[in-house]
Amino acid sequence: MPAGRGKSLVLGAALQPDGMRTTAYRALEALMCEECPAEIAVGHVFSRRSRHVRVAMGYLSSAPVCATCWPLRVEGATDG
Ligand SMILES: [Zn+2]
Repeated sequence: MPAGRGKSLVLGAALQPDGMRTTAYRALEALMCEECPAEIAVGHVFSRRSRHVRVAMGYLSSAPVCATCWPLRVEGATDG
């Protein structure tokens, strides 16, 4: 049972344009892309990129990036 984070749902493994594996997410509420002014609409797939932030607070933040800025190939997806 998923924890009540609310904003996104983990879809599963995906391939980045550079061939590296990443995790694909589905937006459960509108999010702002970190790389462009676009909104990531509810239901759209996006990825998160770790940012180098001050880790003094003990956590690593990750910013949502839309599929236009960072295309994903979701493994196991059959449509499209
Ligand atoms: Zn974007």
